[in-house]
Amino acid sequence: MGRKNGGREREKSRGKVQSPGERGHLRFDLHIHSSCSDGRDGVEAILEAAIEKDLDGIAITDHDTLEGTFQAEAIVRDKKIDLLVIPGVEVSTSDGHLLALGMRELPPKGRSPEETIEFVHHRGGIAIVSHPYHLFRHAMFRIPPCDAVEVYNSKYIFGIANWWAKKRAESLGLPMVAGSDAHMAKTVGLGVTIVEAEGDRKKGCDVPAILDAIRAGRVEIDGKKTSPSVFVGQMVRWVKRRLLRRPNDRTNGD
Ligand SMILES: [Zn+2]
Ligand SMILES: [Zn+2]
Repeated sequence: MGRKNGGREREKSRGKVQSPGERGHLRFDLHIHSSCSDGRDGVEAILEAAIEKDLDGIAITDHDTLEGTFQAEAIVRDKKIDLLVIPGVEVSTSDGHLLALGMRELPPKGRSPEETIEFVHHRGGIAIVSHPYHLFRHAMFRIPPCDAVEVYNSKYIFGIANWWAKKRAESLGLPMVAGSDAHMAKTVGLGVTIVEAEGDRKKGCDVPAILDAIRAGRVEIDGKKTSPSVFVGQMVRWVKRRLLRRPNDRTNGD
């Protein structure tokens, strides 16, 4: 694994070379699941996909575990991969799913969104409501006081919930981000947030700089919907999982 001619091609594709103090536009998929929770593929395959999609960084946001994040950090460090890993997790709150980024400590599940957000803020992280208003997705149907709203979730093919989430985020003046919510490596990068952050990765751009930029709303969305065939495949897997599930086996998927 490794990125070929990474820096030079990247600068060329962005059209210019940065001067010190200038902000870079970095591409992130902020919502990905690995086999550490209910994703199909392992962390290494996800990192390879992220490189292939020419992302600058990712957040692996497994359900109520930081294991995927820690694995990604270790692989990136050991193999010197040119990707910024934002430590993340998708927390199952009492009202629905919430992405917590910048976390090295796992927020307890089952607490209210407000309590969870307080936990995240006390540890320097940011809280993003994932796929609000989506039916059947453990979604929240309100926007608690958070740092940003996921208004583009590539798994939602009908798009009404994304549209409504955007309306609500706009009226609340909250930053808007995208995520693929990928549960397989091939859908990594279908929801991309472009973050305008201080410096670039080669000039000291780090996780705190990315979190600051999201908090400040220096974000833009770039996304393509999951293709219908991939979506149907995911639905079939989802239904099978639930049909085969034992009555007392509760999962917090999607
Ligand atoms: Zn979710
Ligand atoms: Zn998710």
